[in-house]
Amino acid sequence: MTIQALVQSQRDYFLSGETLDYRFRINQLRKLRSMLENYEKNIYRALKQDLNKSKYESFTTELGFLFNEIKHTEKHLKDWMEDESCDAPITHKGTKSFIRKEPYGVTLVISPWNYPLQLAIAPVIGAISAGNTVIIKPSEYSQSSSSLLAKMMRETFDPKYIAVVEGAKEVSEQLLQEKFDYIFFTGSTAVGKIIMREASKHLTPVTLELGGKSPAIIDRDANIELSAKRIVWGKFTNAGQTCVAPDFLYIHSKIKDKLLKEMKKQLKSLYKKNPLGNDDYVRIINENHFNRLLTYLENGTIVQGGNIDRNQLKIEPTIIDHITWNDPVMQEEIFGPILPVLSFEDLEEVIRTLKTMDKPLALYYFGEKEKNQEKVITKLSFGGGCINDTLYHLANPNLPFGGVGASGMGAYHGKYSFETFSHRKSILKQTTKFDLPLRYPGGKLAFSIIKKVMK
Ligand code: NAD
Repeated sequence: MTIQALVQSQRDYFLSGETLDYRFRINQLRKLRSMLENYEKNIYRALKQDLNKSKYESFTTELGFLFNEIKHTEKHLKDWMEDESCDAPITHKGTKSFIRKEPYGVTLVISPWNYPLQLAIAPVIGAISAGNTVIIKPSEYSQSSSSLLAKMMRETFDPKYIAVVEGAKEVSEQLLQEKFDYIFFTGSTAVGKIIMREASKHLTPVTLELGGKSPAIIDRDANIELSAKRIVWGKFTNAGQTCVAPDFLYIHSKIKDKLLKEMKKQLKSLYKKNPLGNDDYVRIINENHFNRLLTYLENGTIVQGGNIDRNQLKIEPTIIDHITWNDPVMQEEIFGPILPVLSFEDLEEVIRTLKTMDKPLALYYFGEKEKNQEKVITKLSFGGGCINDTLYHLANPNLPFGGVGASGMGAYHGKYSFETFSHRKSILKQTTKFDLPLRYPGGKLAFSIIKKVMK
């Protein structure tokens, strides 16, 4: 079937009204969950092939995450779908106002390779729950996950409802020629701009889940041991190929040596002595990215790691000190297991500097004083983040997850996924039992009353 015919078949199906019903949506979510359960082993195998992910990491960051999202959605969907009644001013006596959540229609989800199943399926949970049809375009770089996704979806859903279209950027470009009712994109900022430009041709609304350089600030009074442990975990999970991984560290100069020492210790306990020989340590997705990352090892002083295995495309968890803002590693999102370190004397100076940069997807602040925590949250703009932790905010389905400025627009997870894929339609139901004369021009009394009410 051509892409054009596929989109048309989804449009016809959507217009038939079948996806609107609550029971229908719940049944599809159940089918999705059973699909993931039935294919659990194949999923582990595909993620191992694409990125050398361990079973543990595959479950916690991909499969388990999706099970949680489905469970949360099943539990709350009925409430979320309810009309929301709204107050009205006195001029509207006799009326009822409410918001109806309606699906957009035919939606497109374009996803990246770093969490190839989670990032393709999590938006689909939102699209299903809101009553849409979906076409998914997974990343061509995570080929095993992409073909498994296509197979699982084909066996579970009719393509007129959910379909996977595999391929590289040319396929995305072809898809973007079609008119969709909503586009949900996860990927780089550069491609995000292309998606928005193409979507604008049809005035299609978009969510853009992008990346950027997410800082971790470690202040003088931070808990050294826990900060080190949580930073190391957040950075080197998936070998740093996580959109919200701490991209660089900004450490108070008084605690820098202590923290770096503790981070080395934590790394050893996480990956034992030899991460490259650790069968569960994630590899870099492809040779291009591997070579790009190696250029970052040329500046500064490597205080930990730095070894590589070209055959396996693995780079040891690496910490680089004595980095300046002018080094290549500080010019773009790293997206790999390399962690540059900057130091500071005064938090105000950090805030001033970060304010001049693009708004990041995440920001992490480690420090005990509430006043300083507040200062960071209030004075800096970023998608979301944690105080005294990394990554954990995105695992709470009650928090919207998304970027701001260069790191994206819109948000999802839990209820926010449902909202993202729903249009809020305002309805006013007027009475025919009486007709307030106030709005009609003419009467002197009406004018003085309306002036009082509306002024
Ligand atoms: P990417 O932008 O290169 O590709 C993402 C998707 O877009 C792929 O499916 C790809 O085939 C498609 N694509 C590529 N070029 C295109 C074009 N010219 N026109 C249309 N489609 C095109 O991103 P990536 O390398 O797969 O992923 C890494 C980036 O994604 C990083 O910047 C990372 O921070 C970001 N990311 C963000 C989130 C988030 O939730 N905000 C999550 C994961 C990754």
